[in-house]
Amino acid sequence: MHLMNDPADFPAELLEGFVEANPRHVRGVPGGAVRATKSPKGKVSFLVGGGTGHYPAFAGWVGPGFADGVVCGNIFASPSAAQAYSVAKAADHGGGVLFAFGNYAGDVLHFGQACERLKAEGIDARALVVTDDIASAPKSDISSRRGIAGDMPVFKIASAAAEEGADIDEVDRVFTKANDRTRSFGVAFSGCTLPGATEPLFTVPEGKMGVGLGIHGEPGIDEVELGTADDVATLLVDGLLDDRPDGAASRVLAIVNGLGSCSYEELFVTYRSVARRLREADLEIVEAQVGEHATSLDMGGMSVTLVWLDEELERYWFAPCDSPAFIRGGIEAEPLAESATETVDLSVQVTTPGSAASQAGAREVARGLGAVARMLSANRKHLGDLDAVAGDGDHGTGMERGALAAQETVERLVADSAGVRTALVGAGDSWSDRAGGTSGALWGALLTAAGNALADEESPDARAQGLALRAGLDAVQRIGEAGPGDKTMLDALIPMVEAFEQADGGGAGAAWRRAAQAGRRAAEATADLEPKVGRARPLASRSVGHADPGAVSVAMVAEVIAQVFDGDDSGSISPIG
Ligand code: ADP
Ligand code: MG
Repeated sequence: MHLMNDPADFPAELLEGFVEANPRHVRGVPGGAVRATKSPKGKVSFLVGGGTGHYPAFAGWVGPGFADGVVCGNIFASPSAAQAYSVAKAADHGGGVLFAFGNYAGDVLHFGQACERLKAEGIDARALVVTDDIASAPKSDISSRRGIAGDMPVFKIASAAAEEGADIDEVDRVFTKANDRTRSFGVAFSGCTLPGATEPLFTVPEGKMGVGLGIHGEPGIDEVELGTADDVATLLVDGLLDDRPDGAASRVLAIVNGLGSCSYEELFVTYRSVARRLREADLEIVEAQVGEHATSLDMGGMSVTLVWLDEELERYWFAPCDSPAFIRGGIEAEPLAESATETVDLSVQVTTPGSAASQAGAREVARGLGAVARMLSANRKHLGDLDAVAGDGDHGTGMERGALAAQETVERLVADSAGVRTALVGAGDSWSDRAGGTSGALWGALLTAAGNALADEESPDARAQGLALRAGLDAVQRIGEAGPGDKTMLDALIPMVEAFEQADGGGAGAAWRRAAQAGRRAAEATADLEPKVGRARPLASRSVGHADPGAVSVAMVAEVIAQVFDGDDSGSISPIG
Protein backbone atom coordinates (compact mmCIF):
# COMPACT_ATOMS: atom_id res chain seq x y z
CA MET A 1 0.00 0.00 0.00
CA HIS A 2 1.57 3.22 -1.10
CA LEU A 3 -1.03 5.94 -1.62
CA MET A 4 -3.27 7.30 1.08
CA ASN A 5 -4.03 10.37 3.10
CA ASP A 6 -4.73 9.81 6.80
CA PRO A 7 -4.79 5.99 7.08
CA ALA A 8 -7.76 6.27 9.42
CA ASP A 9 -9.79 7.89 6.63
CA PHE A 10 -8.79 5.34 4.03
CA PRO A 11 -11.98 3.22 3.97
CA ALA A 12 -14.32 6.23 3.98
CA GLU A 13 -12.32 8.03 1.31
CA LEU A 14 -12.23 5.04 -0.96
CA LEU A 15 -16.00 4.64 -0.68
CA GLU A 16 -16.39 8.32 -1.50
CA GLY A 17 -14.19 7.96 -4.56
CA PHE A 18 -16.00 4.81 -5.64
CA VAL A 19 -19.41 6.51 -5.42
CA GLU A 20 -18.17 9.56 -7.29
CA ALA A 21 -16.68 7.39 -10.01
CA ASN A 22 -19.88 5.39 -10.55
CA PRO A 23 -22.82 7.80 -10.52
CA ARG A 24 -24.69 5.73 -13.11
CA HIS A 25 -24.70 2.74 -10.75
CA VAL A 26 -24.61 3.87 -7.14
CA ARG A 27 -25.66 6.53 -4.70
CA GLY A 28 -23.89 6.90 -1.35
CA VAL A 29 -25.96 6.47 1.81
CA PRO A 30 -24.85 6.31 5.45
CA GLY A 31 -23.17 2.95 5.89
CA GLY A 32 -22.56 2.21 2.23
CA ALA A 33 -24.30 2.68 -1.12
CA VAL A 34 -27.49 1.70 -2.95
CA ARG A 35 -28.43 1.48 -6.61
CA ALA A 36 -28.78 4.74 -8.49
CA THR A 37 -31.55 3.20 -10.57
CA LYS A 38 -35.25 2.58 -9.90
CA SER A 39 -36.42 -0.83 -8.74
CA PRO A 40 -39.93 -2.21 -8.97
CA LYS A 41 -42.14 -1.99 -5.91
CA GLY A 42 -42.25 -5.24 -4.00
CA LYS A 43 -38.82 -6.40 -5.20
CA VAL A 44 -36.73 -8.31 -2.66
CA SER A 45 -33.81 -6.13 -1.68
CA PHE A 46 -30.59 -8.14 -1.97
CA LEU A 47 -27.84 -6.44 0.03
CA VAL A 48 -24.21 -7.47 0.20
CA GLY A 49 -21.44 -6.34 2.44
CA GLY A 50 -18.67 -6.90 4.87
CA GLY A 51 -15.33 -5.36 5.61
CA THR A 52 -13.63 -3.08 3.11
CA GLY A 53 -10.40 -4.04 1.33
CA HIS A 54 -11.78 -6.68 -1.03
CA TYR A 55 -12.74 -4.71 -4.12
CA PRO A 56 -14.59 -5.52 -6.36
CA ALA A 57 -16.20 -7.28 -3.39
CA PHE A 58 -18.57 -5.90 -2.43
CA ALA A 59 -19.36 -2.41 -3.67
CA GLY A 60 -18.48 -3.24 -7.27
CA TRP A 61 -21.52 -5.52 -7.48
CA VAL A 62 -24.30 -2.99 -6.94
CA GLY A 63 -26.55 -2.35 -9.93
CA PRO A 64 -29.50 -3.69 -11.91
CA GLY A 65 -29.41 -7.48 -12.09
CA PHE A 66 -26.97 -7.65 -9.20
CA ALA A 67 -27.10 -6.32 -5.63
CA ASP A 68 -29.47 -3.59 -4.46
CA GLY A 69 -26.99 -2.11 -2.04
CA VAL A 70 -23.74 -2.59 -0.17
CA VAL A 71 -22.86 -2.19 3.48
CA CYS A 72 -19.24 -1.16 3.91
CA GLY A 73 -17.30 -1.75 7.09
CA ASN A 74 -13.83 -0.66 8.00
CA ILE A 75 -10.80 -2.34 6.45
CA PHE A 76 -11.32 -6.08 7.04
CA ALA A 77 -13.83 -5.25 9.78
CA SER A 78 -17.52 -5.97 9.83
CA PRO A 79 -19.87 -3.06 9.31
CA SER A 80 -21.93 -2.14 12.35
CA ALA A 81 -25.57 -3.14 12.78
CA ALA A 82 -26.48 0.52 12.46
CA GLN A 83 -24.78 0.75 9.07
CA ALA A 84 -26.54 -2.38 7.85
CA TYR A 85 -29.87 -1.05 9.08
CA SER A 86 -29.29 2.32 7.40
CA VAL A 87 -28.51 0.78 4.00
CA ALA A 88 -31.50 -1.58 4.30
CA LYS A 89 -33.86 1.31 4.97
CA ALA A 90 -32.54 3.13 1.91
CA ALA A 91 -32.84 0.05 -0.29
CA ASP A 92 -36.14 -1.42 0.93
CA HIS A 93 -38.70 -1.84 -1.85
CA GLY A 94 -41.32 -3.63 0.22
CA GLY A 95 -40.36 -7.18 -0.71
CA GLY A 96 -38.15 -7.88 2.29
CA VAL A 97 -34.40 -7.59 2.81
CA LEU A 98 -31.69 -10.21 2.42
CA PHE A 99 -28.23 -9.47 3.76
CA ALA A 100 -25.65 -11.69 2.09
CA PHE A 101 -22.04 -11.90 3.25
CA GLY A 102 -19.12 -14.21 3.83
CA ASN A 103 -19.38 -16.26 6.99
CA TYR A 104 -17.38 -14.23 9.54
CA ALA A 105 -18.31 -13.91 13.19
CA GLY A 106 -18.45 -10.12 13.24
CA ASP A 107 -20.60 -9.97 10.14
CA VAL A 108 -22.96 -12.64 11.45
CA LEU A 109 -23.47 -10.67 14.66
CA HIS A 110 -23.95 -7.24 13.16
CA PHE A 111 -26.10 -8.24 10.20
CA GLY A 112 -28.12 -10.43 12.59
CA GLN A 113 -28.79 -7.47 14.86
CA ALA A 114 -29.84 -5.35 11.90
CA CYS A 115 -32.29 -8.09 10.90
CA GLU A 116 -33.81 -8.04 14.39
CA ARG A 117 -34.30 -4.32 14.21
CA LEU A 118 -35.88 -4.48 10.73
CA LYS A 119 -38.16 -7.34 11.73
CA ALA A 120 -39.33 -5.33 14.73
CA GLU A 121 -40.51 -2.79 12.16
CA GLY A 122 -42.38 -5.46 10.23
CA ILE A 123 -39.81 -5.87 7.45
CA ASP A 124 -38.93 -9.47 6.61
CA ALA A 125 -35.14 -9.43 6.97
CA ARG A 126 -32.76 -12.40 6.80
CA ALA A 127 -29.05 -13.00 6.88
CA LEU A 128 -27.50 -15.42 4.37
CA VAL A 129 -23.89 -16.56 4.51
CA VAL A 130 -21.52 -17.84 1.84
CA THR A 131 -19.36 -20.77 2.98
CA ASP A 132 -17.28 -21.65 -0.06
CA ASP A 133 -13.76 -21.93 1.41
CA ILE A 134 -13.05 -25.65 1.74
CA ALA A 135 -9.84 -25.01 3.66
CA SER A 136 -11.57 -23.24 6.53
CA ALA A 137 -13.43 -26.24 7.98
CA PRO A 138 -13.94 -29.90 7.12
CA LYS A 139 -16.86 -31.08 5.03
CA SER A 140 -18.49 -32.44 8.17
CA ASP A 141 -18.68 -28.90 9.52
CA ILE A 142 -19.54 -27.16 6.30
CA SER A 143 -21.59 -24.39 7.88
CA SER A 144 -18.50 -23.13 9.71
CA ARG A 145 -16.64 -22.46 6.50
CA ARG A 146 -15.86 -18.87 5.61
CA GLY A 147 -16.76 -17.06 2.42
CA ILE A 148 -14.11 -16.02 -0.10
CA ALA A 149 -14.31 -15.54 -3.88
CA GLY A 150 -17.40 -17.77 -4.04
CA ASP A 151 -19.29 -14.74 -2.79
CA MET A 152 -19.34 -13.42 -6.32
CA PRO A 153 -21.23 -16.18 -8.16
CA VAL A 154 -23.51 -16.91 -5.23
CA PHE A 155 -24.50 -13.25 -4.91
CA LYS A 156 -24.88 -12.90 -8.67
CA ILE A 157 -27.14 -15.93 -8.97
CA ALA A 158 -29.38 -14.99 -6.04
CA SER A 159 -29.54 -11.38 -7.25
CA ALA A 160 -30.77 -12.57 -10.63
CA ALA A 161 -33.61 -14.45 -8.96
CA ALA A 162 -34.56 -11.31 -7.02
CA GLU A 163 -34.41 -9.27 -10.22
CA GLU A 164 -36.83 -11.65 -11.93
CA GLY A 165 -39.35 -10.98 -9.20
CA ALA A 166 -38.92 -14.07 -7.03
CA ASP A 167 -40.23 -13.62 -3.48
CA ILE A 168 -37.99 -13.68 -0.45
CA ASP A 169 -38.43 -17.41 0.25
CA GLU A 170 -37.55 -18.20 -3.33
CA VAL A 171 -34.46 -15.97 -3.40
CA ASP A 172 -33.41 -17.53 -0.09
CA ARG A 173 -33.78 -21.01 -1.65
CA VAL A 174 -31.76 -20.09 -4.76
CA PHE A 175 -29.05 -18.53 -2.60
CA THR A 176 -28.82 -21.63 -0.44
CA LYS A 177 -28.61 -23.91 -3.45
CA ALA A 178 -25.96 -21.76 -5.14
CA ASN A 179 -23.93 -21.67 -1.94
CA ASP A 180 -24.20 -25.45 -1.51
CA ARG A 181 -22.80 -25.87 -5.02
CA THR A 182 -19.92 -23.39 -4.69
CA ARG A 183 -16.46 -24.34 -3.45
CA SER A 184 -13.18 -22.41 -3.37
CA PHE A 185 -9.59 -23.15 -2.48
CA GLY A 186 -6.62 -20.81 -2.62
CA VAL A 187 -2.94 -20.18 -2.02
CA ALA A 188 -1.00 -17.16 -0.79
CA PHE A 189 2.48 -16.03 -1.76
CA SER A 190 2.71 -12.89 0.33
CA GLY A 191 0.68 -11.09 2.97
CA CYS A 192 -1.10 -7.76 2.70
CA THR A 193 -0.29 -4.59 4.55
CA LEU A 194 -3.03 -2.56 6.22
CA PRO A 195 -3.09 1.15 5.39
CA GLY A 196 -0.73 2.90 7.76
CA ALA A 197 0.98 -0.32 8.89
CA THR A 198 4.63 -0.89 8.18
CA GLU A 199 4.61 -4.69 8.20
CA PRO A 200 2.40 -7.11 6.27
CA LEU A 201 -0.13 -9.08 8.31
CA PHE A 202 1.83 -12.23 7.60
CA THR A 203 4.73 -13.30 5.48
CA VAL A 204 5.35 -16.41 3.47
CA PRO A 205 8.96 -17.57 3.41
CA GLU A 206 10.79 -17.29 0.10
CA GLY A 207 10.06 -20.27 -2.11
CA LYS A 208 6.99 -21.34 -0.12
CA MET A 209 3.29 -20.74 -0.39
CA GLY A 210 0.49 -20.81 2.13
CA VAL A 211 -2.30 -23.21 1.22
CA GLY A 212 -5.87 -22.35 2.14
CA LEU A 213 -5.62 -18.62 2.53
CA GLY A 214 -8.36 -16.34 3.80
CA ILE A 215 -9.20 -12.94 2.40
CA HIS A 216 -8.44 -10.98 5.54
CA GLY A 217 -4.76 -11.55 5.60
CA GLU A 218 -5.23 -14.92 7.24
CA PRO A 219 -2.26 -16.97 6.14
CA GLY A 220 -2.77 -20.46 4.84
CA ILE A 221 -3.50 -23.50 6.94
CA ASP A 222 -0.42 -25.19 5.62
CA GLU A 223 2.89 -24.11 4.13
CA VAL A 224 4.33 -26.01 1.19
CA GLU A 225 6.97 -25.51 -1.48
CA LEU A 226 5.98 -22.96 -4.09
CA GLY A 227 5.43 -24.96 -7.25
CA THR A 228 4.81 -24.10 -10.88
CA ALA A 229 1.48 -22.78 -12.14
CA ASP A 230 0.67 -26.35 -13.15
CA ASP A 231 1.42 -27.61 -9.64
CA VAL A 232 -0.75 -24.94 -8.04
CA ALA A 233 -3.62 -25.61 -10.43
CA THR A 234 -3.41 -29.34 -9.73
CA LEU A 235 -3.33 -28.82 -5.98
CA LEU A 236 -6.32 -26.51 -6.02
CA VAL A 237 -8.46 -28.38 -8.52
CA ASP A 238 -7.79 -31.76 -6.89
CA GLY A 239 -8.74 -30.29 -3.52
CA LEU A 240 -11.97 -28.98 -4.99
CA LEU A 241 -12.79 -32.24 -6.73
CA ASP A 242 -12.34 -34.10 -3.44
CA ASP A 243 -14.91 -31.78 -1.95
CA ARG A 244 -17.41 -32.17 -4.76
CA PRO A 245 -20.90 -31.35 -3.45
CA ASP A 246 -23.50 -34.10 -3.26
CA GLY A 247 -25.65 -34.31 -6.35
CA ALA A 248 -23.26 -32.23 -8.45
CA ALA A 249 -23.46 -32.82 -12.21
CA SER A 250 -20.68 -32.17 -14.69
CA ARG A 251 -21.22 -28.57 -15.79
CA VAL A 252 -19.17 -26.02 -13.87
CA LEU A 253 -18.44 -22.35 -13.72
CA ALA A 254 -14.72 -21.89 -13.00
CA ILE A 255 -13.34 -18.76 -11.38
CA VAL A 256 -9.66 -17.98 -10.98
CA ASN A 257 -9.41 -15.10 -8.54
CA GLY A 258 -6.43 -12.86 -7.90
CA LEU A 259 -5.95 -11.65 -4.33
CA GLY A 260 -4.60 -8.21 -5.17
CA SER A 261 -1.04 -8.52 -6.37
CA CYS A 262 -1.12 -11.62 -8.49
CA SER A 263 -0.86 -10.47 -12.10
CA TYR A 264 -3.61 -11.22 -14.61
CA GLU A 265 -0.91 -12.89 -16.67
CA GLU A 266 -0.19 -15.40 -13.88
CA LEU A 267 -3.91 -15.96 -13.46
CA PHE A 268 -4.33 -16.85 -17.12
CA VAL A 269 -1.34 -19.19 -17.08
CA THR A 270 -2.87 -20.89 -14.05
CA TYR A 271 -6.33 -20.97 -15.61
CA ARG A 272 -4.89 -22.83 -18.58
CA SER A 273 -3.81 -25.64 -16.25
CA VAL A 274 -7.04 -25.47 -14.25
CA ALA A 275 -9.07 -25.93 -17.43
CA ARG A 276 -7.00 -28.95 -18.49
CA ARG A 277 -7.39 -30.54 -15.11
CA LEU A 278 -11.14 -30.00 -15.12
CA ARG A 279 -11.50 -31.48 -18.57
CA GLU A 280 -9.44 -34.48 -17.50
CA ALA A 281 -12.00 -34.96 -14.76
CA ASP A 282 -14.72 -34.99 -17.46
CA LEU A 283 -16.17 -31.68 -16.40
CA GLU A 284 -17.58 -29.19 -18.83
CA ILE A 285 -16.56 -25.59 -18.20
CA VAL A 286 -19.67 -23.62 -19.01
CA GLU A 287 -17.87 -20.38 -18.34
CA ALA A 288 -14.68 -19.09 -16.80
CA GLN A 289 -14.04 -15.85 -14.99
CA VAL A 290 -10.36 -15.04 -14.63
CA GLY A 291 -9.52 -11.87 -12.75
CA GLU A 292 -9.93 -10.10 -9.45
CA HIS A 293 -13.25 -10.73 -7.75
CA ALA A 294 -12.52 -10.82 -4.05
CA THR A 295 -9.17 -9.32 -3.14
CA SER A 296 -7.32 -8.78 0.08
CA LEU A 297 -5.68 -5.38 -0.38
CA ASP A 298 -2.26 -6.07 -1.88
CA MET A 299 -2.02 -9.71 -0.90
CA GLY A 300 -0.16 -12.00 -3.28
CA GLY A 301 -2.15 -15.12 -3.98
CA MET A 302 -4.98 -16.66 -5.92
CA SER A 303 -7.89 -19.00 -5.51
CA VAL A 304 -9.99 -21.24 -7.70
CA THR A 305 -13.75 -21.42 -7.30
CA LEU A 306 -16.05 -23.99 -8.87
CA VAL A 307 -19.80 -23.59 -9.05
CA TRP A 308 -21.47 -26.88 -9.88
CA LEU A 309 -24.29 -25.69 -12.07
CA ASP A 310 -27.72 -27.04 -12.83
CA GLU A 311 -30.15 -25.57 -15.32
CA GLU A 312 -31.59 -23.08 -12.88
CA LEU A 313 -28.26 -21.82 -11.51
CA GLU A 314 -26.87 -21.57 -15.02
CA ARG A 315 -29.79 -19.47 -16.19
CA TYR A 316 -29.44 -17.05 -13.27
CA TRP A 317 -25.67 -16.88 -13.71
CA PHE A 318 -26.05 -15.77 -17.31
CA ALA A 319 -28.90 -13.32 -16.66
CA PRO A 320 -28.02 -9.73 -17.58
CA CYS A 321 -26.61 -7.37 -14.99
CA ASP A 322 -24.94 -4.00 -14.97
CA SER A 323 -22.72 -3.15 -12.01
CA PRO A 324 -19.45 -1.21 -11.77
CA ALA A 325 -17.34 -4.36 -11.69
CA PHE A 326 -19.44 -6.94 -13.52
CA ILE A 327 -21.53 -6.39 -16.61
CA ARG A 328 -23.30 -9.09 -18.47
CA GLY A 329 -25.56 -9.27 -21.49
CA GLY A 330 -27.09 -6.62 -23.66
CA ILE A 331 -25.72 -7.30 -27.09
CA GLU A 332 -26.62 -10.54 -28.83
CA ALA A 333 -23.95 -11.75 -31.20
CA GLU A 334 -23.73 -15.07 -32.92
CA PRO A 335 -20.49 -16.96 -32.42
CA LEU A 336 -18.28 -17.45 -35.45
CA ALA A 337 -18.70 -20.70 -37.34
CA GLU A 338 -16.03 -23.28 -36.44
CA SER A 339 -14.33 -22.94 -39.82
CA ALA A 340 -13.91 -19.20 -39.41
CA THR A 341 -11.75 -19.65 -36.33
CA GLU A 342 -9.50 -22.32 -37.78
CA THR A 343 -5.88 -21.26 -37.63
CA VAL A 344 -4.10 -20.76 -40.90
CA ASP A 345 -0.39 -21.49 -41.22
CA LEU A 346 1.14 -18.24 -42.44
CA SER A 347 4.77 -19.23 -42.01
CA VAL A 348 7.15 -18.85 -44.93
CA GLN A 349 7.44 -22.02 -47.01
CA VAL A 350 9.74 -23.10 -49.83
CA THR A 351 7.82 -22.78 -53.10
CA THR A 352 10.71 -23.48 -55.46
CA PRO A 353 13.93 -25.13 -54.27
CA GLY A 354 17.00 -22.92 -54.44
CA SER A 355 19.89 -23.60 -56.79
CA ALA A 356 22.67 -25.74 -55.31
CA ALA A 357 24.81 -22.63 -54.75
CA SER A 358 21.95 -20.74 -53.18
CA GLN A 359 21.12 -23.69 -50.91
CA ALA A 360 24.73 -23.59 -49.75
CA GLY A 361 24.27 -19.88 -49.08
CA ALA A 362 21.12 -20.61 -47.05
CA ARG A 363 23.09 -23.09 -44.94
CA GLU A 364 25.61 -20.31 -44.25
CA VAL A 365 22.74 -18.09 -43.13
CA ALA A 366 21.62 -20.80 -40.69
CA ARG A 367 25.19 -21.13 -39.44
CA GLY A 368 25.51 -17.38 -38.99
CA LEU A 369 22.21 -17.16 -37.13
CA GLY A 370 23.33 -19.94 -34.82
CA ALA A 371 26.46 -18.00 -33.87
CA VAL A 372 24.42 -14.79 -33.52
CA ALA A 373 21.93 -16.53 -31.22
CA ARG A 374 24.78 -17.85 -29.07
CA MET A 375 26.27 -14.37 -28.81
CA LEU A 376 22.90 -12.86 -27.91
CA SER A 377 22.25 -15.49 -25.24
CA ALA A 378 25.62 -14.77 -23.68
CA ASN A 379 24.98 -11.01 -23.83
CA ARG A 380 21.30 -11.07 -22.89
CA LYS A 381 21.94 -9.40 -19.56
CA HIS A 382 24.35 -6.85 -20.95
CA LEU A 383 21.88 -5.69 -23.61
CA GLY A 384 19.05 -5.76 -21.09
CA ASP A 385 21.02 -3.60 -18.68
CA LEU A 386 21.79 -1.07 -21.43
CA ASP A 387 18.07 -0.96 -22.30
CA ALA A 388 17.14 -0.59 -18.64
CA VAL A 389 19.07 2.68 -18.36
CA ALA A 390 16.28 4.60 -20.07
CA GLY A 391 14.10 1.93 -21.70
CA ASP A 392 12.32 -1.14 -20.42
CA GLY A 393 15.18 -3.59 -20.14
CA ASP A 394 13.91 -6.14 -22.66
CA HIS A 395 16.33 -5.67 -25.52
CA GLY A 396 18.49 -8.66 -24.60
CA THR A 397 15.62 -11.12 -24.24
CA GLY A 398 13.93 -9.77 -27.37
CA MET A 399 17.02 -10.09 -29.54
CA GLU A 400 17.76 -13.57 -28.23
CA ARG A 401 14.20 -14.74 -28.89
CA GLY A 402 14.28 -13.24 -32.37
CA ALA A 403 17.58 -14.85 -33.33
CA LEU A 404 16.58 -18.26 -31.98
CA ALA A 405 13.27 -18.15 -33.85
CA ALA A 406 14.99 -17.06 -37.03
CA GLN A 407 17.58 -19.80 -36.72
CA GLU A 408 14.90 -22.43 -36.18
CA THR A 409 12.96 -21.26 -39.22
CA VAL A 410 16.00 -21.12 -41.47
CA GLU A 411 16.97 -24.64 -40.41
CA ARG A 412 13.47 -25.83 -41.33
CA LEU A 413 13.67 -24.04 -44.69
CA VAL A 414 17.16 -25.36 -45.39
CA ALA A 415 15.87 -28.87 -44.82
CA ASP A 416 13.24 -28.08 -47.47
CA SER A 417 15.97 -26.99 -49.95
CA ALA A 418 15.43 -23.27 -49.59
CA GLY A 419 17.66 -20.78 -51.37
CA VAL A 420 19.17 -17.77 -49.67
CA ARG A 421 16.32 -15.40 -50.45
CA THR A 422 13.64 -17.64 -48.94
CA ALA A 423 15.89 -18.36 -45.96
CA LEU A 424 16.35 -14.66 -45.16
CA VAL A 425 12.70 -13.78 -45.78
CA GLY A 426 11.72 -16.62 -43.42
CA ALA A 427 14.27 -15.44 -40.87
CA GLY A 428 12.81 -11.93 -40.90
CA ASP A 429 9.28 -13.23 -40.64
CA SER A 430 10.05 -15.35 -37.57
CA TRP A 431 12.25 -12.73 -35.96
CA SER A 432 9.56 -10.06 -36.01
CA ASP A 433 6.93 -12.60 -35.02
CA ARG A 434 8.75 -13.74 -31.90
CA ALA A 435 11.16 -11.04 -30.76
CA GLY A 436 8.66 -8.35 -29.84
CA GLY A 437 9.61 -4.74 -29.15
CA THR A 438 10.49 -2.02 -31.59
CA SER A 439 13.76 -3.68 -32.42
CA GLY A 440 11.97 -6.95 -33.22
CA ALA A 441 9.88 -5.30 -35.91
CA LEU A 442 12.90 -3.48 -37.32
CA TRP A 443 15.16 -6.55 -37.36
CA GLY A 444 12.37 -8.50 -39.04
CA ALA A 445 12.06 -5.84 -41.72
CA LEU A 446 15.83 -5.68 -42.14
CA LEU A 447 16.18 -9.42 -42.75
CA THR A 448 13.13 -9.67 -44.99
CA ALA A 449 14.21 -6.72 -47.13
CA ALA A 450 17.74 -8.13 -47.37
CA GLY A 451 16.28 -11.45 -48.51
CA ASN A 452 14.05 -9.83 -51.08
CA ALA A 453 17.08 -8.09 -52.57
CA LEU A 454 18.56 -11.52 -53.33
CA ALA A 455 17.44 -14.51 -55.39
CA ASP A 456 17.05 -18.23 -54.71
CA GLU A 457 19.32 -18.92 -57.67
CA GLU A 458 22.40 -17.17 -56.35
CA SER A 459 24.96 -17.53 -53.64
CA PRO A 460 25.49 -13.83 -53.00
CA ASP A 461 28.99 -12.46 -53.38
CA ALA A 462 30.26 -9.40 -51.50
CA ARG A 463 28.58 -6.99 -53.89
CA ALA A 464 25.20 -8.72 -53.66
CA GLN A 465 25.50 -8.87 -49.89
CA GLY A 466 26.20 -5.13 -49.87
CA LEU A 467 23.05 -4.50 -51.90
CA ALA A 468 21.06 -6.71 -49.54
CA LEU A 469 22.44 -4.88 -46.52
CA ARG A 470 21.57 -1.53 -48.07
CA ALA A 471 18.03 -2.76 -48.74
CA GLY A 472 17.79 -3.85 -45.08
CA LEU A 473 18.99 -0.45 -43.91
CA ASP A 474 16.45 1.31 -46.15
CA ALA A 475 13.68 -0.81 -44.66
CA VAL A 476 14.71 0.07 -41.11
CA GLN A 477 14.71 3.78 -42.00
CA ARG A 478 11.40 3.58 -43.84
CA ILE A 479 9.61 1.71 -41.06
CA GLY A 480 11.25 3.29 -38.02
CA GLU A 481 11.20 6.82 -39.43
CA ALA A 482 14.31 7.68 -37.44
CA GLY A 483 17.35 9.46 -38.76
CA PRO A 484 21.07 9.64 -37.98
CA GLY A 485 21.77 11.10 -34.54
CA ASP A 486 18.44 10.00 -33.06
CA LYS A 487 20.35 7.44 -30.95
CA THR A 488 19.03 4.24 -32.45
CA MET A 489 20.46 1.19 -34.14
CA LEU A 490 20.74 3.36 -37.26
CA ASP A 491 23.67 5.21 -35.75
CA ALA A 492 25.65 1.98 -35.96
CA LEU A 493 23.94 0.46 -38.99
CA ILE A 494 24.50 3.41 -41.36
CA PRO A 495 28.28 3.56 -40.89
CA MET A 496 28.39 -0.25 -41.01
CA VAL A 497 26.66 -0.42 -44.37
CA GLU A 498 28.83 2.39 -45.73
CA ALA A 499 32.01 0.63 -44.58
CA PHE A 500 30.78 -2.61 -46.11
CA GLU A 501 30.13 -0.91 -49.46
CA GLN A 502 33.50 0.81 -49.40
CA ALA A 503 35.46 -2.37 -48.75
CA ASP A 504 37.01 -3.42 -52.02
CA GLY A 505 38.81 -6.67 -52.42
CA GLY A 506 39.07 -9.43 -49.89
CA GLY A 507 35.54 -10.68 -50.49
CA ALA A 508 32.55 -10.70 -48.19
CA GLY A 509 34.52 -11.73 -45.11
CA ALA A 510 36.76 -8.67 -45.32
CA ALA A 511 33.75 -6.42 -45.94
CA TRP A 512 32.03 -7.77 -42.80
CA ARG A 513 35.22 -7.20 -40.82
CA ARG A 514 35.30 -3.55 -41.91
CA ALA A 515 31.61 -3.14 -41.21
CA ALA A 516 32.07 -4.64 -37.75
CA GLN A 517 34.93 -2.29 -36.94
CA ALA A 518 32.92 0.74 -38.05
CA GLY A 519 29.92 -0.59 -36.11
CA ARG A 520 31.87 -0.97 -32.86
CA ARG A 521 33.20 2.58 -33.04
CA ALA A 522 29.83 4.03 -33.96
CA ALA A 523 27.94 2.05 -31.32
CA GLU A 524 30.34 3.22 -28.62
CA ALA A 525 29.91 6.81 -29.83
CA THR A 526 26.14 6.66 -29.32
CA ALA A 527 26.87 7.12 -25.60
CA ASP A 528 27.21 10.84 -26.28
CA LEU A 529 23.81 11.12 -27.93
CA GLU A 530 20.36 11.82 -26.51
CA PRO A 531 17.57 9.56 -27.80
CA LYS A 532 15.09 11.38 -30.03
CA VAL A 533 12.79 8.42 -30.73
CA GLY A 534 11.76 5.17 -29.09
CA ARG A 535 11.07 4.12 -25.55
CA ALA A 536 14.20 5.79 -24.20
CA ARG A 537 13.15 9.29 -25.32
CA PRO A 538 11.16 10.28 -22.20
CA LEU A 539 14.22 9.58 -20.06
CA ALA A 540 16.61 10.94 -22.65
CA SER A 541 19.04 12.66 -20.31
CA ARG A 542 19.47 9.51 -18.25
CA SER A 543 20.63 7.73 -21.35
CA VAL A 544 23.55 10.11 -21.98
CA GLY A 545 26.80 8.38 -21.09
CA HIS A 546 25.41 4.96 -22.04
CA ALA A 547 25.50 3.42 -25.51
CA ASP A 548 22.23 2.70 -27.32
CA PRO A 549 21.30 -0.96 -26.89
CA GLY A 550 20.02 -1.34 -30.45
CA ALA A 551 23.20 0.17 -31.89
CA VAL A 552 25.33 -2.07 -29.69
CA SER A 553 23.49 -5.24 -30.67
CA VAL A 554 23.62 -4.58 -34.40
CA ALA A 555 27.37 -3.90 -34.21
CA MET A 556 27.91 -7.06 -32.17
CA VAL A 557 25.93 -9.10 -34.69
CA ALA A 558 28.21 -7.82 -37.48
CA GLU A 559 31.25 -8.85 -35.47
CA VAL A 560 29.89 -12.37 -35.04
CA ILE A 561 29.20 -12.65 -38.77
CA ALA A 562 32.74 -11.51 -39.56
CA GLN A 563 34.00 -14.24 -37.22
CA VAL A 564 31.83 -16.87 -38.91
CA PHE A 565 33.44 -15.88 -42.23
CA ASP A 566 36.77 -16.54 -40.52
CA GLY A 567 35.58 -20.00 -39.52
CA ASP A 568 34.77 -19.23 -35.88
CA ASP A 569 31.15 -20.15 -35.04
CA SER A 570 31.42 -19.69 -31.27
CA GLY A 571 29.73 -16.31 -31.21
CA SER A 572 32.00 -15.25 -28.40
CA ILE A 573 33.13 -11.63 -28.71
CA SER A 574 33.87 -8.89 -26.23
CA PRO A 575 30.79 -6.82 -25.45
CA ILE A 576 30.39 -3.27 -26.70
CA GLY A 577 29.23 -0.45 -24.42
P1 ADP B 1 11.53 -1.55 -27.22
O1 ADP B 1 12.09 -0.17 -27.26
O2 ADP B 1 10.21 -1.65 -27.91
O3 ADP B 1 11.54 -2.11 -25.84
P2 ADP B 1 13.98 -2.97 -27.76
O4 ADP B 1 14.32 -2.68 -26.33
O5 ADP B 1 14.13 -4.37 -28.19
O6 ADP B 1 12.53 -2.47 -28.10
O7 ADP B 1 14.89 -2.11 -28.69
C1 ADP B 1 15.29 -0.82 -28.36
C2 ADP B 1 16.17 -0.31 -29.47
O8 ADP B 1 15.39 -0.18 -30.64
C3 ADP B 1 16.72 1.05 -29.21
O9 ADP B 1 17.91 0.96 -28.47
C4 ADP B 1 16.96 1.59 -30.61
O10 ADP B 1 18.25 1.22 -31.06
C5 ADP B 1 15.99 0.83 -31.45
N1 ADP B 1 14.92 1.72 -31.93
C6 ADP B 1 13.87 2.18 -31.25
N2 ADP B 1 13.09 2.96 -32.04
C7 ADP B 1 13.70 2.99 -33.26
C8 ADP B 1 13.42 3.61 -34.52
N3 ADP B 1 12.33 4.35 -34.69
N4 ADP B 1 14.25 3.39 -35.54
C9 ADP B 1 15.34 2.61 -35.38
N5 ADP B 1 15.65 2.01 -34.23
C10 ADP B 1 14.87 2.20 -33.19
MG1 MG C 1 13.23 -2.30 -24.72
